[in-house]
Amino acid sequence: MQYFIDVILPIPIQKTFTYSVTKSEYEFLQAGMRVAVSFGRSKIYTALVYNLHQNPPELYEAKEIYQILDEQPIANSTQLPHWQWISDYYMCSIGEVYKAALPSAFLLESETVLSKKKSFDNESLLSDDEFLIYEALQHQSQLTIHQVSDILGKKKVLPIINDLLKKSVISVKEEIYEQYKPKMIKYVRLHKNLEKSESLENLLNKLSRAEKQRDVILAYFQLLSDKKPIKAKRLEEVSKASSQIINALVAKEILEIYYLQTDRITFQGEKKELKTLNNHQQKALEEIKESFKQYDVTLLHGITSSGKTEVYMQLIQETISKGKQVLFLLPEIALTTQLISRLQMYFGNTMSVFHSKYSMNERVEVWNNLLDKKQKSQIIIGARSAVLLPFSNLGLIIVDEEHETSYKQFDPAPRYNARDTAIVLAKMHQAKLLLGSATPSLESYYNAQEHKYGLVSLNRRHKDISLPEIQLIDIKEKKRKREMTGHFSDTLLGEIQKALEEKEQVILFQNRRGFSPIVECSTCGVSPQCPNCDVSLTYHKHKNKLKCHYCHYYRAMPNNCGACGSHQLDTKGFGTEQIELELKELFPHYNIGRMDLDTTRGKHGYRNIINAFEAREIDILVGTQMLSKGLDFDNVSLVGVLNADTILNFPDFRAHEKAFQLMVQVSGRAGRSKKQGKVYIQTHNPYHQILQQVSVTDYAAMYKEQLQERWQYHYPPYFRMIKITLKHKDYQKVDAAITWLFIALQNVFKEFVLGPSSPAVSRVRNQYIKQVLIKIPPKQSLTKTKETVHKIRNTFIAVADFRGIRFIVDVDNQ
Ligand code: ADP
Ligand code: ZN
Ligand code: ZN
Repeated sequence: MQYFIDVILPIPIQKTFTYSVTKSEYEFLQAGMRVAVSFGRSKIYTALVYNLHQNPPELYEAKEIYQILDEQPIANSTQLPHWQWISDYYMCSIGEVYKAALPSAFLLESETVLSKKKSFDNESLLSDDEFLIYEALQHQSQLTIHQVSDILGKKKVLPIINDLLKKSVISVKEEIYEQYKPKMIKYVRLHKNLEKSESLENLLNKLSRAEKQRDVILAYFQLLSDKKPIKAKRLEEVSKASSQIINALVAKEILEIYYLQTDRITFQGEKKELKTLNNHQQKALEEIKESFKQYDVTLLHGITSSGKTEVYMQLIQETISKGKQVLFLLPEIALTTQLISRLQMYFGNTMSVFHSKYSMNERVEVWNNLLDKKQKSQIIIGARSAVLLPFSNLGLIIVDEEHETSYKQFDPAPRYNARDTAIVLAKMHQAKLLLGSATPSLESYYNAQEHKYGLVSLNRRHKDISLPEIQLIDIKEKKRKREMTGHFSDTLLGEIQKALEEKEQVILFQNRRGFSPIVECSTCGVSPQCPNCDVSLTYHKHKNKLKCHYCHYYRAMPNNCGACGSHQLDTKGFGTEQIELELKELFPHYNIGRMDLDTTRGKHGYRNIINAFEAREIDILVGTQMLSKGLDFDNVSLVGVLNADTILNFPDFRAHEKAFQLMVQVSGRAGRSKKQGKVYIQTHNPYHQILQQVSVTDYAAMYKEQLQERWQYHYPPYFRMIKITLKHKDYQKVDAAITWLFIALQNVFKEFVLGPSSPAVSRVRNQYIKQVLIKIPPKQSLTKTKETVHKIRNTFIAVADFRGIRFIVDVDNQ
């Protein structure tokens, strides 16, 4: 009898691969366990067992696996079919999904090397196997996983390596395998040699001559009343003693030190009770629960600051009290520190935050907690990639700000939309899913109108504060009447002045960062371009640099024109940096802050600015669309949009929908807690229908009009789309390839193939970009369409002339 497993490899090839295993391996292995296998010439990969069977592959001889890496599955039985769905739907390999899902610490590869730590010298701690490795590392500075396996004559060596890591005998080269290190926290307790009954008095007598040490002991007993382990740090704080004094007590065998492992993201504060819902919120909550009886997915259309988050929290509470898990998806974790701390106050140690930008250790911890069904994993708050985690028992998924395009992964594959992927995940768990937004995507609202989703609205702000009053300012007119100062109309300036005098805060929105997007020679009209991309460089005044926002190329701002030598360089257009500078001159006695990609680098970049604004250290905050993401400040009475035109004139069929969402969301930051806020939107085109709709927050009108256009011009939600992008550094080659592809697709899909075209920036990082768009009419089968695209892609790949061209398929492109 022969035994086989099919495995997933973390590579972009569209299938699983079969390997042979022994009978005992076959009996031991389960789907979701990792095995090391060799693939290609000699590379070893960490593969994931997909299934086990006894059918030899027809086209090749199955190789043996190299070793088994797990004792238990690390991916569970709903994840694999879910990944398979993503792979089928978004036309990528399941390996790409696997790679995106697993923290890379789980994806050990053959290049992993072990080396001995200098600090270790206590051989007596080692088991026989461990000693063999330790000894080998005395003779040779590095060992690969293969070699370890050879030395020990076994395949399962990962547990041994893990033990060696735990005992700090070896280290693993970080770039391949950043090992998982649980964070240890230092605690103190009374030394075990002290008699249990040792009284405080006795101890203090013993220390009668060491005043500081007495203080420490006093503080220790005081902390004991909390009935919690006592952290060394906390003891130092309370007793105001240095660590030396504590060490002295340790040396006297009065105290001893011990370590406990902690999960990194523990909540330390007091747990609070949930807020009582107001009547409207209570009604919405009831309606949502009612709707869930009929629909798996319900859309909560709640205006900004109506208290959607409070409603979510009630639903979360009810779900976890039934012992089910909750996934709370957010578009951008970094920008939602406020929301996370709000949730943390209520759900404390039953929740974990997951984000792909977190360190490897933090991600591994969340993953393992979910596998072990720890209490901390009852609620997972995360951005996009959190839908790929090992949930076992989901009861509810919330997708907050469901309209946000950042739910769609753009690059690399899998190019999935986390919102839609979450809907599928909820189905697999028979869980309910709530979409929430003040400005729902056309797609979701359409599904609600078509009764595919339930719909609940919440259209009162908390405390019945009215939505902000929105006014449009015609800057063409203002310019003509000379009522502009820099980029500010007199109206907006007056309102800023008023708000500041009232000690209220102001938010100003400008879509572009930097000082000005274009530098132009006023003699010959040439503007400096990025050498790698087909785009003008943006001027950043503070650093006196020209930067490319596509590839991060930069250079010093030149003194004269590179083309004609003229010294007259003009700047055109404006960004956040310029606005900030103008404000500093206009309001010298106030603090101006700026929030854009340039000021929020680093893990805590956003938080620092948000905290400063919250603490009212900043009076006016200027920023890009980051400002529209659910921020909740209680003292902002005025929001200004400096120029709505650049938002409206974006060449994309979704531009108007997005502009509406962006402006309504930005406006929603005003007047959230005390009184009605004010919003001023500057534009050259105040009669634009979208601006008119924004000015009265008329979602229904926007929806109706946009939907009509979508129908007329064959766009989603009626037609589906697949975008294919080709990239290569040789323009001729991409051009020939796109023509070939266009014709091949047109033969099948006729007039529903659009293109070929170049995107607005047609060359990025020296790669020329060409695209075609396939539109799929409502009655055409999506599956069949994809099959055809697959076939054409396979033919394309086989054409020798097209070798090296990147072929990118994006289903439901944004
Ligand atoms: P949304 O998510 O709909 O924009 P939030 O949930 O952020 O609205 O609510 C806006 C503000 O009003 C928050 O500061 C929130 O704490 C407060 N709030 C909302 N509902 C209540 C309530 N029932 N009781 C007390 N405060 C509330
Ligand atoms: Zn010039
Ligand atoms: Zn560039």
